[in-house]
Amino acid sequence: MPAPSTKRPIIGITVRIDPDKDTYHLRTTYPRAILHAGGIPLLIPLLTEPGYLDTIAQLLDGVLLSGNPGDVDPFRYGQAPHVALGAVHPERDETDLQLLRIADARRLPIFAICYGMQMLNVHRGGTLFQDLPSQVENVMQHQQRGSFRRLAHGIQIEQNSLLANLAGGVTARVNSHHHQAIDELGRDLRAVAWAADGVIEAVVGTQPNHFVLGVQWHPEINADHDPFSQALFKHFVAEAARHRQGLPLE
Ligand code: MN
Repeated sequence: MPAPSTKRPIIGITVRIDPDKDTYHLRTTYPRAILHAGGIPLLIPLLTEPGYLDTIAQLLDGVLLSGNPGDVDPFRYGQAPHVALGAVHPERDETDLQLLRIADARRLPIFAICYGMQMLNVHRGGTLFQDLPSQVENVMQHQQRGSFRRLAHGIQIEQNSLLANLAGGVTARVNSHHHQAIDELGRDLRAVAWAADGVIEAVVGTQPNHFVLGVQWHPEINADHDPFSQALFKHFVAEAARHRQGLPLE
């Protein structure tokens, strides 16, 4: 591999926490996907003490919010915990929220995956379904079983959108590892892809000069071979490179 040039954008990736083992962790697929798309991945520990994330974020050209086995604390969007709410990791919630505030203020490109997209929506004042099977009628299976790489359901993508361009069409198949989903959309966000049951599967930001993309599935899982997954990471890293150079959005 060629030596990284300073033109390659630095992408901060939030990690996960295992409270029982007091350990941070993250699948290798996230940093690999960023590296292979031309970025320099930097894993960010979940330290929420004042000043830490502000300082780290000065190094960053883009923010990638990873998925998380836990759920966003419903307190963050004004709801009591539903009986089917999963594990809540306050350090992760707080880290993502602080990074999102910084990214919004600096117009840092944001790519938010699964839980990350849900947190993006909550950060912008939106709400979540805390448990799709018990809260949404006729919902399909979004917590797939068996191989976690399998493409479990289809999505319909808005015509003439960036996402349709990256997918090479208005339909695609995606994996699905979530029991929560966006309910009310937050401000300055627009849904651009849906499952057949109406569940929102992707959002984009609507503010000029700020690249924001959220997907409810896990493109990093198949980014080693799948062209659509690779296109998502490549586009995000390209936007981060433009931000690094002070250029406007394409
Ligand atoms: Mn899904």
